[in-house]
Amino acid sequence: MSKDKTIRAAAPQSSPSKLMIRLAKTYLRPHLRVLGFAMFFMLVAAASTAAIAQLIQPVLDDVLNGQKMNMILPVGFAILVSFIARGFSTYYHTILMNEIGQDIVADIQSNLFSHFLDLDLAFFHANPSGQLISRVVSDVNVMRAAVLDSLTGVGKNFLTLIFLIGIMFYQDWKLSLAAFAIFPFAALFVAQLGRRLRRVSTSIQSELANLSDRLSQIFQGVRQVQAYGMEDYERGRADVAIGRVRDLNVKSVRVGNLSTPVNETLLGLVVCGIIIYGGYEAASGRMTAGQLGAFLAAFSLAYEPMKKLAKLNNTLQMGLGAAERVFEMMDLHSKVRSRPDCVPLEITQAASIEFKDVGFSYDAGEIKAIDQLSFMAPAGKVIALVGPSGGGKSTVINLIPRFYDVQSGAIFINGADVRDVDIKTLRAQIALVSQDITIFDDSLAMNIGYGRAGAIREDIIEAARAAAAHEFIESFPDGYDTRVGEDGIKLSGGQRQRVSIARAILRNAPILLLDEATSALDNESEKLVQQALEKLQKGRTTVVIAHRLSTVRDADLILVLDRGKVVEKGTHTDLIEQKGLYARMYETGLKDS
Ligand code: ADP
Repeated sequence: MSKDKTIRAAAPQSSPSKLMIRLAKTYLRPHLRVLGFAMFFMLVAAASTAAIAQLIQPVLDDVLNGQKMNMILPVGFAILVSFIARGFSTYYHTILMNEIGQDIVADIQSNLFSHFLDLDLAFFHANPSGQLISRVVSDVNVMRAAVLDSLTGVGKNFLTLIFLIGIMFYQDWKLSLAAFAIFPFAALFVAQLGRRLRRVSTSIQSELANLSDRLSQIFQGVRQVQAYGMEDYERGRADVAIGRVRDLNVKSVRVGNLSTPVNETLLGLVVCGIIIYGGYEAASGRMTAGQLGAFLAAFSLAYEPMKKLAKLNNTLQMGLGAAERVFEMMDLHSKVRSRPDCVPLEITQAASIEFKDVGFSYDAGEIKAIDQLSFMAPAGKVIALVGPSGGGKSTVINLIPRFYDVQSGAIFINGADVRDVDIKTLRAQIALVSQDITIFDDSLAMNIGYGRAGAIREDIIEAARAAAAHEFIESFPDGYDTRVGEDGIKLSGGQRQRVSIARAILRNAPILLLDEATSALDNESEKLVQQALEKLQKGRTTVVIAHRLSTVRDADLILVLDRGKVVEKGTHTDLIEQKGLYARMYETGLKDS
């Protein structure tokens, strides 16, 4: 798959409202009840903040000038109650909203990961693992901040603002109108900043994905890097990627904080105006000191939520950028899917595999990996694929479990087109032993048990015995419970192969797809692996990419593949007699495969 098909962050496309509606519809809906409770607490918090501002008036007019002594205790007590109510309601709505936010983000992460698992191999070739990890971890993390901030922010700050504005209008509506005349300018500026921030943030996320992709490639290939002394080169390349992320982050903070000087200036203007106007009004007796005090208190208390709402727009825009990248992935669908009218594939005994005029190319382009390929693998027989590298052997193996779909012709298993059967039941009939054996960071029992869901310990041991793995497993201190992989014991090449063979034996599937390892094992291991493989092939239809002479000699049919076509076909003896490509490869020890 060509590089340009990689899904990379594009310029923002979906409108913010569409993204928000989608987020709310899919993820917020299940939390409406809790959201209701949280909103109630927000309302209490907002109302108590407003009460505190309003209480300034009796404090100044009645209490402090000593006119109404009987008001001292009730006013003081009311202020205490307001503060306590504000504290507790803020605590509860924060807790509830945080829970909703974390749930939403966990749901998105889990949906995204589960969606990735269903995508086809072409997708994974086009999108390196680092990029995908970054979407699940880093993009979703940015969404987390946006979801949390906007859930708490919008509700609480908005409500508080409305209450406080109410107090201001109650105290002096003309002064309030004048104070708020400045708002449209601030809002325009904030919206403009938000758009810029969203662009920067999308670029940051995309550069972060590139960086994690670079790092994961380097760590995976660290042996090559060190063996070829390329540390400095890789350091340089990583530094470039790190530098890009750093520059964009600096830019994002610069843009995001531009709102501070602008907002402070606007605020200064308003406060200055209020004091001058209010001062004259109070001096001329049209306004009491208490009214002006309450107005100023309401305005100062309103400043905090206003600032938060302005900042919230920044977080929200960044979150929407990330949401877009996440949804972009969620909207991709696997090209390889079970048809709605598919039937389960049931195989009672053995299975025949037939390729009929199969054509396939990885990038749907001109270069065909397989071209007009036809062959028949009768039930229970061993078909060996040989030929020069790039001939199409792995592609044949990839097409049978539908890792990719053929572009022309068809593949039949027991006469059923693989595209007409349910993909899960198709794959259930297949055991795959590939060269790049994956050993999971888990116990040995689990690694073998991967072959069949719900396998019991006895079955696992039996499979391990058949794969000549039981003995070495028993020699480990924890036996089958020994942890292998990154965190545990490292297995030798031959041991890994035998674990993967045990996994395939446990699967007990009628079709075996085998990519023989090319790496040399010591004689003892080689013999054990060979014996295990023979056991595995018994009674199954096997398609094997053969690298060993013994495998081809024993095969029922050898297909020699060159440039996607079968160029020779027959048994070992037939093909030696033909004196063609196979005979030449045989003479050089079947090395060129
Ligand atoms: P073999 O297993 O015989 O070495 P393959 O089946 O791997 O051959 O490859 C057949 C052709 O398909 C080659 O030209 C190879 O370059 C191409 N090819 C294999 N895998 C991919 C891929 N993931 N993307 C693009 N081209 C590929």
